[in-house]
Amino acid sequence: MKVMKFGGSSVASGRLMRQVAGIVEAHATARPLVVTSAMQGVTDAIEAHLRTSPHDEAGIPVLVDAVTEKHKTAAREGVRDPHLQGGAVYQVNKIMERLERLLYGIAYIEELTPKARDFAVSFGERLAAPILSATIADRGIDSRAFDAEQVGILTDGSYGNATPRLPDIERRFQEVLAPYIGEGGVPVVTGFYGVDAQGHPTIFGRGGSDYVAAILAYAGDAEGLEIWKDVPGFMTTDPNIVPEAHPLREMSYDEAAELANFGAKVLHPRTVEPVALKGIPIRVLNTMEPEAPGTLIHHIERVEKVMMRAVAARGALAIVKLIGPGMAYTKGIGERVFTILNRARVNVINMAASQASFALLIDAADLDRAMAALEEVKGGVIQDTQALRDMALLCVVGKGLSETPGSAAKILSVISDVDVNIEMISLGASDIAIDVIVHAADRDKAVKAVHDAFLKGTTEKVARGAAASVPGRQTS
Ligand code: ADP
Ligand code: ASP
Ligand code: MG
Repeated sequence: MKVMKFGGSSVASGRLMRQVAGIVEAHATARPLVVTSAMQGVTDAIEAHLRTSPHDEAGIPVLVDAVTEKHKTAAREGVRDPHLQGGAVYQVNKIMERLERLLYGIAYIEELTPKARDFAVSFGERLAAPILSATIADRGIDSRAFDAEQVGILTDGSYGNATPRLPDIERRFQEVLAPYIGEGGVPVVTGFYGVDAQGHPTIFGRGGSDYVAAILAYAGDAEGLEIWKDVPGFMTTDPNIVPEAHPLREMSYDEAAELANFGAKVLHPRTVEPVALKGIPIRVLNTMEPEAPGTLIHHIERVEKVMMRAVAARGALAIVKLIGPGMAYTKGIGERVFTILNRARVNVINMAASQASFALLIDAADLDRAMAALEEVKGGVIQDTQALRDMALLCVVGKGLSETPGSAAKILSVISDVDVNIEMISLGASDIAIDVIVHAADRDKAVKAVHDAFLKGTTEKVARGAAASVPGRQTS
């Protein structure tokens, strides 16, 4: 069995769903389990409504009509068989009725809870799954749509950012999906969300369908996980920032995880976690060019030659500075600060310390909460706190980077050469990454400079062979 996940841009229309069904058919002997995202723009549209006017009833029919029409059009375009097409349209109507009720409920009681929000945004995937499944069945393949509730993608119940309960999901996989796949069926499962112990939908964060695919690959002991996108693979950097970015043929799990965590939107930050546990290889492939090799992410012990591999950028960050002479000598101060931040639900992404100050990198959305919470420690050893807004982090990754003399100096000088001020750096903590924090306005300039200097036109000798002979399941 292998898991094939198709992103929003890969299922953006009925025509594209037909393209996807063709790819699934070509891989039928590998017993695929398909995971789908919402059609492109649908999650965004629901989210935008909830953000801007959740209590406004007048906006609901506008959203509901647009979403219904989009999916009906996709079903008509994607599915030729009248019986299958009718079934898909019927499903769309039924699912939309539920979403409509939910949206009116939220507007009526004028309260948008995290629980209602997660439920509402999960509808994009619920709608896409039956249409894609019918498109696959249209080719004479036995296919059925499953939602996370049916499959038992169980979570810890944290709305907005859930964690899966892997052993329970593994058990449910054997009960529900394994028998169906065993009979030759191709399940199409909703990405993005799971359900808590009471059956309430909890999303895995934006881009979460990659993660659901990885969770199911883990649960079903898949031979491989394929993430099908609108890009030719995991690239040296975001092609929207640097158009000359090019796909990498091969990466290690830790390189991919580090980059995904620090801004490479191509993979949900946690995608690598479950599959790396079982040594299941990931391939990032291009729906628009299915024969191209894409990127293989797997267990790589060593590399012959140290090479910079890629640079990712993450925005919407802020720095909190805690200032007071002798802070570094005060026992327990770190613990106090972290306890306070933990209580305020502020996650520290990165940090640097000196004799008289701590600098903590956090999400911009947490800044006001962090500053308010830290008022409590001001006045003693910590004399003052400062907030630096609009920060971005560049994460430069390459196996062996930390052991190579001069690599940090080179990166820093390339960034300074384009007149970008470095606000904070972090190296030494990771063997494979160097993080540089700059002002958000300088982010793209810094990424371009690093890419031009180290990644432009780089070729990967190690990877050439890997593309020709695809390694099977690794044991690690
Ligand atoms: P999907 O809907 O298939 O999950 P996403 O839009 O979430 O697709 O992710 C793919 C996008 O990620 C690309 O279109 C590209 O703009 C962006 N991206 C950012 N960094 C990278 C990178 N290093 N390699 C490839 N794509 C990247
Ligand atoms: N539809 C969800 C989102 O837009 C999940 C995903 O596409 O991975 O974030
Ligand atoms: Mg995505």
